[in-house]
Amino acid sequence: MANKIDRVPVREQDPKVRATNFEEVCYGYNAEEAQLEASRCLNCKKPRCVDSCPVGIKIPAFIHQVLEGDFKASYDTISEDSSLPAICGRVCPQETQCEGSCILGVKGQSVSIGKLERFVADYAREHESAESKHPLIDKQGIKVAVIGSGPAGLACASDLAKLGYSVTIFESLHKAGGVLTYGIPEFRLPKKAVVEKEIQKLLDLGIKIETDVFVGRTVTIDDLMDKEGFNAVFVGTGAGLPLFLGIPGENLNGVFSANEYLTRNNLMQAFSKESDTPIFQAKKVCVVGGGNVAMDAARTALRLGAEVTIVYRRSEKELPARAEEIHHAKEEGINFQLLTNPVEVLGDENGWVKGIRCIRMELGEPDESGRRSPVPIPDSEFDIEADALIVALGTKINRLIADTTPGLGTDRKGRLLTEQTATTRKGVFAGGDVVTGAATVILAMGEGRKAAAAIDEYLKGYGAS
Ligand SMILES: Cc1cc2nc3c(=O)[nH]c(=O)nc-3n(C[C@H](O)[C@H](O)[C@H](O)COP(=O)(O)OP(=O)(O)OC[C@H]3O[C@@H](n4cnc5c(N)ncnc54)[C@H](O)[C@@H]3O)c2cc1C
Ligand code: SF4
Repeated sequence: MANKIDRVPVREQDPKVRATNFEEVCYGYNAEEAQLEASRCLNCKKPRCVDSCPVGIKIPAFIHQVLEGDFKASYDTISEDSSLPAICGRVCPQETQCEGSCILGVKGQSVSIGKLERFVADYAREHESAESKHPLIDKQGIKVAVIGSGPAGLACASDLAKLGYSVTIFESLHKAGGVLTYGIPEFRLPKKAVVEKEIQKLLDLGIKIETDVFVGRTVTIDDLMDKEGFNAVFVGTGAGLPLFLGIPGENLNGVFSANEYLTRNNLMQAFSKESDTPIFQAKKVCVVGGGNVAMDAARTALRLGAEVTIVYRRSEKELPARAEEIHHAKEEGINFQLLTNPVEVLGDENGWVKGIRCIRMELGEPDESGRRSPVPIPDSEFDIEADALIVALGTKINRLIADTTPGLGTDRKGRLLTEQTATTRKGVFAGGDVVTGAATVILAMGEGRKAAAAIDEYLKGYGAS
Protein backbone atom coordinates (compact mmCIF):
# COMPACT_ATOMS: atom_id res chain seq x y z
CA MET A 1 0.00 0.00 0.00
CA ALA A 2 1.70 3.24 -1.11
CA ASN A 3 0.80 6.83 -0.35
CA LYS A 4 0.90 9.78 -2.72
CA ILE A 5 2.61 12.05 -0.22
CA ASP A 6 6.07 11.26 1.12
CA ARG A 7 6.59 11.22 4.89
CA VAL A 8 6.91 14.85 6.00
CA PRO A 9 10.52 15.33 7.14
CA VAL A 10 11.07 16.68 10.62
CA ARG A 11 13.29 19.72 11.17
CA GLU A 12 16.47 19.04 13.15
CA GLN A 13 19.56 20.91 14.35
CA ASP A 14 22.47 20.70 11.92
CA PRO A 15 24.69 17.73 12.95
CA LYS A 16 27.90 19.82 13.03
CA VAL A 17 26.31 22.47 15.25
CA ARG A 18 24.48 20.10 17.58
CA ALA A 19 27.63 18.01 18.17
CA THR A 20 28.86 20.99 20.22
CA ASN A 21 25.75 21.77 22.28
CA PHE A 22 23.20 20.03 24.53
CA GLU A 23 20.07 21.55 22.96
CA GLU A 24 17.35 19.28 21.60
CA VAL A 25 18.29 17.67 18.27
CA CYS A 26 14.80 17.41 16.82
CA TYR A 27 12.55 20.48 16.51
CA GLY A 28 9.36 18.50 15.86
CA TYR A 29 6.51 19.36 13.48
CA ASN A 30 4.63 22.65 13.38
CA ALA A 31 0.82 22.57 12.93
CA GLU A 32 0.96 22.72 9.15
CA GLU A 33 3.53 19.91 8.88
CA ALA A 34 1.60 17.80 11.40
CA GLN A 35 -1.65 18.15 9.44
CA LEU A 36 0.10 17.25 6.18
CA GLU A 37 1.66 14.17 7.79
CA ALA A 38 -1.71 13.27 9.37
CA SER A 39 -3.28 13.34 5.90
CA ARG A 40 -1.12 10.31 4.98
CA CYS A 41 -2.89 8.04 7.49
CA LEU A 42 -5.45 5.71 5.88
CA ASN A 43 -7.56 5.55 9.07
CA CYS A 44 -7.52 1.74 8.75
CA LYS A 45 -10.56 -0.22 9.97
CA LYS A 46 -8.28 -2.78 11.63
CA PRO A 47 -5.33 -0.60 12.60
CA ARG A 48 -2.17 -2.67 12.98
CA CYS A 49 -0.44 0.31 14.59
CA VAL A 50 -2.78 0.13 17.63
CA ASP A 51 -2.15 -3.60 18.10
CA SER A 52 1.58 -2.85 18.29
CA CYS A 53 1.33 -0.02 20.79
CA PRO A 54 2.06 -1.45 24.28
CA VAL A 55 -0.69 0.74 25.79
CA GLY A 56 -3.11 0.61 22.83
CA ILE A 57 -3.28 4.36 22.03
CA LYS A 58 -6.16 5.03 19.59
CA ILE A 59 -3.72 6.08 16.89
CA PRO A 60 -6.00 6.55 13.84
CA ALA A 61 -8.47 8.54 15.96
CA PHE A 62 -5.87 10.96 17.34
CA ILE A 63 -4.27 11.35 13.90
CA HIS A 64 -7.66 12.10 12.35
CA GLN A 65 -8.24 14.81 14.96
CA VAL A 66 -4.87 16.33 14.03
CA LEU A 67 -5.98 16.35 10.40
CA GLU A 68 -9.15 18.18 11.40
CA GLY A 69 -7.11 20.71 13.39
CA ASP A 70 -8.75 19.70 16.67
CA PHE A 71 -5.51 19.35 18.60
CA LYS A 72 -7.18 19.53 22.02
CA ALA A 73 -9.43 16.57 21.18
CA SER A 74 -6.41 14.73 19.81
CA TYR A 75 -4.56 15.27 23.11
CA ASP A 76 -7.55 14.00 25.08
CA THR A 77 -7.67 10.86 22.87
CA ILE A 78 -3.99 10.11 23.51
CA SER A 79 -4.36 10.87 27.23
CA GLU A 80 -6.97 8.13 27.62
CA ASP A 81 -4.15 5.58 27.27
CA SER A 82 -0.91 7.47 27.94
CA SER A 83 0.07 9.78 30.79
CA LEU A 84 3.39 10.92 29.28
CA PRO A 85 2.80 11.61 25.55
CA ALA A 86 5.38 14.42 25.21
CA ILE A 87 7.97 11.99 26.55
CA CYS A 88 6.84 8.85 24.70
CA GLY A 89 6.59 10.81 21.41
CA ARG A 90 10.28 11.56 21.87
CA VAL A 91 11.76 8.31 23.22
CA CYS A 92 9.55 5.31 22.28
CA PRO A 93 11.13 2.81 19.87
CA GLN A 94 8.35 3.50 17.33
CA GLU A 95 10.11 1.58 14.55
CA THR A 96 9.57 -1.69 16.41
CA GLN A 97 6.12 -0.77 17.74
CA CYS A 98 3.37 1.34 16.08
CA GLU A 99 5.35 2.59 13.08
CA GLY A 100 6.89 -0.83 12.53
CA SER A 101 3.40 -2.24 11.96
CA CYS A 102 1.83 0.66 10.02
CA ILE A 103 0.36 -0.63 6.77
CA LEU A 104 2.03 2.17 4.81
CA GLY A 105 5.41 0.81 5.87
CA VAL A 106 4.87 -2.39 3.88
CA LYS A 107 5.68 -0.75 0.55
CA GLY A 108 6.77 2.72 1.56
CA GLN A 109 7.20 4.87 4.63
CA SER A 110 5.03 4.42 7.69
CA VAL A 111 3.11 7.35 9.15
CA SER A 112 5.34 9.35 11.51
CA ILE A 113 3.21 8.44 14.53
CA GLY A 114 5.78 9.36 17.19
CA LYS A 115 6.38 12.84 15.79
CA LEU A 116 2.60 13.42 15.59
CA GLU A 117 2.18 12.31 19.20
CA ARG A 118 4.97 14.68 20.22
CA PHE A 119 3.38 17.55 18.27
CA VAL A 120 -0.01 17.03 19.94
CA ALA A 121 1.50 16.84 23.43
CA ASP A 122 3.73 19.90 22.92
CA TYR A 123 0.78 21.85 21.48
CA ALA A 124 -1.37 20.94 24.49
CA ARG A 125 1.38 21.96 26.91
CA GLU A 126 1.96 25.28 25.16
CA HIS A 127 -1.78 26.05 25.01
CA GLU A 128 -2.69 24.65 28.41
CA SER A 129 -5.80 26.12 30.00
CA ALA A 130 -6.94 25.93 33.62
CA GLU A 131 -10.03 23.97 32.61
CA SER A 132 -7.91 21.06 31.30
CA LYS A 133 -6.92 20.31 34.94
CA HIS A 134 -8.43 17.15 36.32
CA PRO A 135 -11.25 17.47 38.87
CA LEU A 136 -10.28 15.78 42.14
CA ILE A 137 -12.45 13.33 44.02
CA ASP A 138 -11.76 13.02 47.76
CA LYS A 139 -11.11 9.52 49.07
CA GLN A 140 -10.95 10.82 52.67
CA GLY A 141 -7.23 10.66 53.10
CA ILE A 142 -6.59 7.03 52.10
CA LYS A 143 -2.83 7.11 51.65
CA VAL A 144 -0.67 5.45 48.99
CA ALA A 145 3.14 5.53 48.91
CA VAL A 146 4.86 5.36 45.53
CA ILE A 147 8.54 4.44 45.68
CA GLY A 148 10.54 5.75 42.73
CA SER A 149 9.66 8.66 40.45
CA GLY A 150 10.43 7.18 37.02
CA PRO A 151 7.72 6.65 34.38
CA ALA A 152 6.18 3.72 36.32
CA GLY A 153 5.90 5.69 39.58
CA LEU A 154 4.76 8.91 37.89
CA ALA A 155 2.01 7.16 35.90
CA CYS A 156 0.81 5.19 38.94
CA ALA A 157 0.79 8.31 41.15
CA SER A 158 -1.05 10.37 38.54
CA ASP A 159 -3.88 7.84 38.10
CA LEU A 160 -4.23 7.33 41.87
CA ALA A 161 -4.38 11.07 42.54
CA LYS A 162 -7.06 11.46 39.85
CA LEU A 163 -9.01 8.74 41.68
CA GLY A 164 -8.81 10.86 44.83
CA TYR A 165 -6.14 9.09 46.89
CA SER A 166 -3.57 10.96 48.91
CA VAL A 167 -0.30 10.04 47.17
CA THR A 168 3.30 10.59 48.27
CA ILE A 169 6.21 9.69 46.00
CA PHE A 170 9.50 8.78 47.71
CA GLU A 171 12.59 9.25 45.52
CA SER A 172 16.17 8.46 46.49
CA LEU A 173 17.78 11.08 44.23
CA HIS A 174 17.47 14.83 44.78
CA LYS A 175 15.34 15.26 41.65
CA ALA A 176 12.26 13.40 40.45
CA GLY A 177 11.87 11.71 37.04
CA GLY A 178 13.98 8.53 37.21
CA VAL A 179 15.79 7.76 33.97
CA LEU A 180 13.87 10.60 32.28
CA THR A 181 15.83 13.02 34.48
CA TYR A 182 19.13 11.32 35.26
CA GLY A 183 19.64 9.02 32.25
CA ILE A 184 18.27 10.35 28.97
CA PRO A 185 20.23 13.47 28.00
CA GLU A 186 18.84 16.96 27.43
CA PHE A 187 19.49 16.80 23.66
CA ARG A 188 16.88 14.00 23.40
CA LEU A 189 14.52 14.96 26.19
CA PRO A 190 14.58 18.55 27.46
CA LYS A 191 14.26 18.65 31.24
CA LYS A 192 12.81 22.14 31.93
CA ALA A 193 10.51 22.32 28.91
CA VAL A 194 9.18 18.74 29.04
CA VAL A 195 10.06 16.51 32.04
CA GLU A 196 9.72 19.15 34.76
CA LYS A 197 6.42 20.33 33.27
CA GLU A 198 5.07 16.76 33.37
CA ILE A 199 6.14 16.48 37.00
CA GLN A 200 4.56 19.85 37.80
CA LYS A 201 1.25 18.46 36.49
CA LEU A 202 1.47 15.80 39.22
CA LEU A 203 2.17 18.36 41.89
CA ASP A 204 -0.88 20.28 40.61
CA LEU A 205 -2.94 17.14 41.28
CA GLY A 206 -1.89 17.37 44.93
CA ILE A 207 0.75 14.62 44.82
CA LYS A 208 3.62 15.13 47.28
CA ILE A 209 7.16 14.24 46.26
CA GLU A 210 9.80 13.57 48.93
CA THR A 211 13.27 13.45 47.41
CA ASP A 212 16.47 12.16 49.07
CA VAL A 213 14.53 9.28 50.68
CA PHE A 214 16.21 5.94 49.99
CA VAL A 215 13.54 3.38 50.89
CA GLY A 216 15.24 0.39 52.49
CA ARG A 217 17.75 2.71 54.21
CA THR A 218 16.07 5.99 55.24
CA VAL A 219 12.77 4.22 55.89
CA THR A 220 11.41 0.72 55.16
CA ILE A 221 8.15 -0.38 53.54
CA ASP A 222 7.10 -1.74 56.95
CA ASP A 223 7.68 1.74 58.46
CA LEU A 224 5.59 3.35 55.71
CA MET A 225 2.71 0.92 56.23
CA ASP A 226 2.82 0.34 59.99
CA LYS A 227 4.07 3.69 61.35
CA GLU A 228 3.23 6.27 58.67
CA GLY A 229 -0.24 4.98 57.84
CA PHE A 230 0.10 4.20 54.13
CA ASN A 231 -2.64 1.76 53.12
CA ALA A 232 -0.86 0.56 49.98
CA VAL A 233 2.58 0.87 48.39
CA PHE A 234 3.69 0.87 44.76
CA VAL A 235 7.33 -0.06 44.04
CA GLY A 236 8.69 1.45 40.82
CA THR A 237 12.37 1.56 41.63
CA GLY A 238 13.68 0.59 38.19
CA ALA A 239 16.81 -1.40 37.38
CA GLY A 240 19.62 1.04 37.96
CA LEU A 241 22.65 -1.05 38.98
CA PRO A 242 25.25 -1.12 36.19
CA LEU A 243 26.81 -4.29 34.81
CA PHE A 244 30.55 -4.42 34.12
CA LEU A 245 32.75 -6.33 31.68
CA GLY A 246 34.84 -8.24 34.21
CA ILE A 247 38.05 -7.79 32.22
CA PRO A 248 41.56 -6.85 33.42
CA GLY A 249 42.10 -3.10 33.86
CA GLU A 250 38.47 -2.25 34.56
CA ASN A 251 39.48 -0.52 37.82
CA LEU A 252 41.76 2.01 36.11
CA ASN A 253 41.07 5.74 36.36
CA GLY A 254 38.95 6.85 33.42
CA VAL A 255 36.59 3.84 33.41
CA PHE A 256 32.95 4.81 34.01
CA SER A 257 29.64 3.03 34.04
CA ALA A 258 27.31 4.77 31.57
CA ASN A 259 24.94 5.31 34.49
CA GLU A 260 27.50 7.28 36.46
CA TYR A 261 28.64 9.23 33.40
CA LEU A 262 25.11 10.19 32.37
CA THR A 263 23.89 10.89 35.92
CA ARG A 264 26.81 13.18 36.64
CA ASN A 265 26.16 15.08 33.43
CA ASN A 266 22.38 15.21 33.45
CA LEU A 267 21.68 15.55 37.14
CA MET A 268 24.75 17.30 38.48
CA GLN A 269 25.65 19.31 35.34
CA ALA A 270 29.18 17.89 35.51
CA PHE A 271 29.89 19.31 32.04
CA SER A 272 29.84 22.83 33.50
CA LYS A 273 33.01 24.30 35.06
CA GLU A 274 30.83 25.70 37.86
CA SER A 275 29.63 22.21 38.84
CA ASP A 276 30.62 20.87 42.27
CA THR A 277 31.25 17.46 40.67
CA PRO A 278 33.12 18.09 37.40
CA ILE A 279 33.76 15.08 35.18
CA PHE A 280 37.07 14.03 33.62
CA GLN A 281 37.22 15.63 30.16
CA ALA A 282 38.58 12.82 28.03
CA LYS A 283 39.95 13.35 24.50
CA LYS A 284 39.35 9.87 23.10
CA VAL A 285 36.44 7.90 24.53
CA CYS A 286 35.48 4.30 23.90
CA VAL A 287 31.89 3.27 24.71
CA VAL A 288 31.07 -0.44 24.99
CA GLY A 289 27.51 -1.47 24.13
CA GLY A 290 24.90 -0.89 21.44
CA GLY A 291 21.69 0.18 23.19
CA ASN A 292 20.12 3.58 23.86
CA VAL A 293 22.33 3.98 26.92
CA ALA A 294 25.49 3.49 24.82
CA MET A 295 24.28 6.01 22.20
CA ASP A 296 23.40 8.54 24.92
CA ALA A 297 26.78 8.17 26.64
CA ALA A 298 28.66 8.39 23.33
CA ARG A 299 26.80 11.48 22.16
CA THR A 300 27.29 13.13 25.57
CA ALA A 301 31.05 12.47 25.44
CA LEU A 302 31.13 13.91 21.90
CA ARG A 303 29.42 17.09 23.10
CA LEU A 304 32.04 17.34 25.85
CA GLY A 305 34.67 17.53 23.13
CA ALA A 306 35.89 13.93 22.76
CA GLU A 307 36.45 11.80 19.69
CA VAL A 308 34.17 8.80 20.35
CA THR A 309 34.18 5.16 19.25
CA ILE A 310 31.36 2.73 20.01
CA VAL A 311 32.50 -0.87 20.38
CA TYR A 312 29.74 -3.47 19.89
CA ARG A 313 30.15 -7.23 19.68
CA ARG A 314 27.41 -7.95 17.12
CA SER A 315 26.71 -6.38 13.70
CA GLU A 316 24.77 -3.22 12.86
CA LYS A 317 21.55 -5.19 12.31
CA GLU A 318 21.51 -6.29 15.95
CA LEU A 319 22.17 -2.85 17.50
CA PRO A 320 19.35 -2.59 20.07
CA ALA A 321 19.21 1.24 20.19
CA ARG A 322 16.36 3.19 18.56
CA ALA A 323 17.02 3.61 14.81
CA GLU A 324 16.83 7.41 15.15
CA GLU A 325 19.57 7.46 17.82
CA ILE A 326 21.92 5.34 15.68
CA HIS A 327 21.24 7.59 12.69
CA HIS A 328 21.87 10.73 14.75
CA ALA A 329 25.04 9.27 16.31
CA LYS A 330 26.44 8.52 12.86
CA GLU A 331 25.50 11.96 11.51
CA GLU A 332 27.32 13.56 14.44
CA GLY A 333 30.53 11.68 13.65
CA ILE A 334 30.61 8.85 16.22
CA ASN A 335 32.80 5.95 14.99
CA PHE A 336 31.43 2.40 15.18
CA GLN A 337 33.67 -0.65 15.68
CA LEU A 338 31.14 -3.45 15.10
CA LEU A 339 31.75 -7.18 15.66
CA THR A 340 34.35 -6.15 18.22
CA ASN A 341 34.68 -6.89 21.94
CA PRO A 342 37.04 -5.43 24.57
CA VAL A 343 39.31 -7.96 26.30
CA GLU A 344 41.50 -5.65 28.42
CA VAL A 345 41.69 -2.02 29.49
CA LEU A 346 45.29 -0.80 29.06
CA GLY A 347 46.72 1.62 31.62
CA ASP A 348 49.68 4.02 31.85
CA GLU A 349 52.20 4.15 34.69
CA ASN A 350 49.91 6.45 36.72
CA GLY A 351 46.94 4.12 36.60
CA TRP A 352 44.97 5.98 33.90
CA VAL A 353 43.38 4.40 30.86
CA LYS A 354 45.52 4.69 27.73
CA GLY A 355 43.76 2.23 25.43
CA ILE A 356 41.38 -0.69 25.00
CA ARG A 357 42.54 -4.08 23.70
CA CYS A 358 39.78 -5.59 21.56
CA ILE A 359 39.15 -8.76 19.62
CA ARG A 360 37.19 -9.18 16.38
CA MET A 361 34.03 -11.27 16.51
CA GLU A 362 31.91 -13.22 14.05
CA LEU A 363 28.29 -14.31 14.40
CA GLY A 364 27.63 -17.97 15.23
CA GLU A 365 24.46 -19.86 16.13
CA PRO A 366 21.40 -18.03 17.54
CA ASP A 367 21.31 -17.84 21.37
CA GLU A 368 18.21 -17.98 23.66
CA SER A 369 17.29 -14.38 22.65
CA GLY A 370 17.08 -15.59 19.02
CA ARG A 371 20.03 -13.38 18.03
CA ARG A 372 23.18 -14.93 16.58
CA SER A 373 25.88 -15.24 19.26
CA PRO A 374 29.12 -13.37 18.74
CA VAL A 375 32.18 -15.67 18.71
CA PRO A 376 35.77 -14.35 19.02
CA ILE A 377 38.03 -14.75 15.97
CA PRO A 378 41.35 -16.24 17.25
CA ASP A 379 44.45 -14.00 17.05
CA SER A 380 42.48 -10.95 15.90
CA GLU A 381 43.31 -8.66 18.87
CA PHE A 382 44.01 -4.99 18.21
CA ASP A 383 44.26 -1.82 20.34
CA ILE A 384 42.15 1.34 20.28
CA GLU A 385 43.74 4.46 21.75
CA ALA A 386 41.49 5.95 24.45
CA ASP A 387 41.79 7.89 27.71
CA ALA A 388 38.31 6.91 28.94
CA LEU A 389 36.07 3.86 28.72
CA ILE A 390 32.33 4.04 29.30
CA VAL A 391 30.66 0.69 29.97
CA ALA A 392 27.04 0.54 28.75
CA LEU A 393 26.26 -3.16 28.94
CA GLY A 394 22.90 -2.93 30.67
CA THR A 395 21.72 -2.81 34.25
CA LYS A 396 20.33 -5.03 36.97
CA ILE A 397 18.02 -4.60 39.92
CA ASN A 398 19.12 -3.32 43.32
CA ARG A 399 17.97 -5.91 45.90
CA LEU A 400 17.73 -3.40 48.76
CA ILE A 401 13.92 -3.16 48.83
CA ALA A 402 13.44 -6.94 48.55
CA ASP A 403 16.05 -7.56 51.26
CA THR A 404 14.42 -5.12 53.70
CA THR A 405 10.77 -6.09 53.09
CA PRO A 406 9.68 -9.43 54.58
CA GLY A 407 7.47 -11.44 52.24
CA LEU A 408 8.50 -9.69 49.01
CA GLY A 409 9.39 -12.44 46.52
CA THR A 410 11.92 -12.10 43.69
CA ASP A 411 13.25 -14.28 40.90
CA ARG A 412 16.95 -15.15 40.71
CA LYS A 413 17.71 -11.88 38.89
CA GLY A 414 16.14 -9.87 41.71
CA ARG A 415 13.02 -8.91 39.71
CA LEU A 416 9.98 -8.56 41.96
CA LEU A 417 7.45 -11.35 41.45
CA THR A 418 3.98 -10.02 40.64
CA GLU A 419 0.59 -11.19 39.51
CA GLN A 420 -1.43 -8.43 37.84
CA THR A 421 1.04 -6.01 39.51
CA ALA A 422 0.35 -7.36 43.05
CA THR A 423 3.57 -8.58 44.72
CA THR A 424 3.73 -11.51 47.12
CA ARG A 425 3.40 -9.04 50.03
CA LYS A 426 -0.16 -7.90 50.81
CA GLY A 427 -0.81 -4.26 49.94
CA VAL A 428 2.44 -3.91 47.99
CA PHE A 429 2.28 -3.54 44.20
CA ALA A 430 5.07 -3.12 41.65
CA GLY A 431 5.73 -2.32 38.01
CA GLY A 432 8.27 -1.07 35.50
CA ASP A 433 11.90 -2.15 35.21
CA VAL A 434 11.97 -3.55 38.79
CA VAL A 435 9.55 -6.25 37.57
CA THR A 436 10.49 -6.67 33.89
CA GLY A 437 14.23 -5.87 34.04
CA ALA A 438 15.50 -2.97 31.91
CA ALA A 439 12.80 -2.26 29.29
CA THR A 440 11.13 0.88 27.93
CA VAL A 441 9.41 4.04 29.12
CA ILE A 442 6.04 3.10 27.62
CA LEU A 443 6.04 -0.36 29.21
CA ALA A 444 6.95 1.10 32.61
CA MET A 445 4.25 3.75 32.27
CA GLY A 446 1.66 1.15 31.20
CA GLU A 447 2.48 -1.07 34.20
CA GLY A 448 2.28 1.92 36.54
CA ARG A 449 -1.23 2.63 35.27
CA LYS A 450 -2.27 -1.05 35.62
CA ALA A 451 -1.00 -1.02 39.19
CA ALA A 452 -3.01 2.12 39.97
CA ALA A 453 -6.18 0.30 38.86
CA ALA A 454 -5.23 -2.77 40.95
CA ILE A 455 -4.48 -0.60 44.00
CA ASP A 456 -7.86 1.12 43.60
CA GLU A 457 -9.55 -2.28 43.56
CA TYR A 458 -7.55 -3.42 46.62
CA LEU A 459 -8.33 -0.25 48.57
CA LYS A 460 -12.07 -0.73 48.17
CA GLY A 461 -11.57 -3.00 51.18
CA TYR A 462 -10.47 0.12 53.11
CA GLY A 463 -13.67 1.96 52.37
CA ALA A 464 -12.57 3.62 49.12
CA SER A 465 -15.43 3.63 46.68
C1 LIG B 1 20.39 6.25 29.46
C2 LIG B 1 19.07 5.55 29.20
C3 LIG B 1 18.43 5.79 28.00
C4 LIG B 1 17.19 5.18 27.74
N1 LIG B 1 16.56 5.46 26.57
C5 LIG B 1 15.31 4.98 26.36
C6 LIG B 1 14.57 5.33 25.20
O1 LIG B 1 15.05 6.06 24.34
N2 LIG B 1 13.31 4.83 25.05
C7 LIG B 1 12.75 4.02 26.00
O2 LIG B 1 11.57 3.65 25.85
N3 LIG B 1 13.44 3.63 27.10
C8 LIG B 1 14.70 4.10 27.30
N4 LIG B 1 15.40 3.72 28.42
C9 LIG B 1 14.77 2.78 29.35
C10 LIG B 1 13.72 3.49 30.21
O3 LIG B 1 14.18 4.76 30.60
C11 LIG B 1 13.35 2.65 31.42
O4 LIG B 1 12.84 1.41 30.95
C12 LIG B 1 12.30 3.35 32.29
O5 LIG B 1 12.75 4.60 32.74
C13 LIG B 1 11.90 2.47 33.47
O6 LIG B 1 11.04 3.19 34.29
P1 LIG B 1 10.87 2.86 35.85
O7 LIG B 1 9.89 3.87 36.35
O8 LIG B 1 10.60 1.43 36.01
O9 LIG B 1 12.31 3.12 36.48
P2 LIG B 1 13.33 4.35 36.51
O10 LIG B 1 13.11 5.31 35.41
O11 LIG B 1 14.67 3.73 36.63
O12 LIG B 1 12.97 5.10 37.87
C14 LIG B 1 13.17 4.48 39.11
C15 LIG B 1 13.35 5.56 40.16
O13 LIG B 1 13.34 4.94 41.45
C16 LIG B 1 14.35 5.54 42.25
N5 LIG B 1 14.72 4.56 43.28
C17 LIG B 1 15.43 3.41 43.11
N6 LIG B 1 15.54 2.76 44.29
C18 LIG B 1 14.90 3.53 45.21
C19 LIG B 1 14.68 3.39 46.60
N7 LIG B 1 15.14 2.32 47.27
N8 LIG B 1 13.99 4.36 47.25
C20 LIG B 1 13.51 5.45 46.57
N9 LIG B 1 13.70 5.62 45.24
C21 LIG B 1 14.37 4.67 44.58
C22 LIG B 1 15.46 5.84 41.26
O14 LIG B 1 16.33 6.84 41.75
C23 LIG B 1 14.66 6.31 40.06
O15 LIG B 1 14.42 7.69 40.11
C24 LIG B 1 16.65 4.28 28.68
C25 LIG B 1 17.33 4.00 29.87
C26 LIG B 1 18.54 4.63 30.13
C27 LIG B 1 19.27 4.32 31.42
S1 SF4 C 1 -1.65 1.42 10.34
FE1 SF4 C 1 -0.76 3.37 9.58
S2 SF4 C 1 -2.20 4.05 8.03
FE2 SF4 C 1 -3.32 2.52 9.25
S3 SF4 C 1 -4.35 3.67 10.90
FE3 SF4 C 1 -2.34 3.08 11.72
S4 SF4 C 1 -1.02 4.86 11.26
FE4 SF4 C 1 -2.86 5.08 9.94
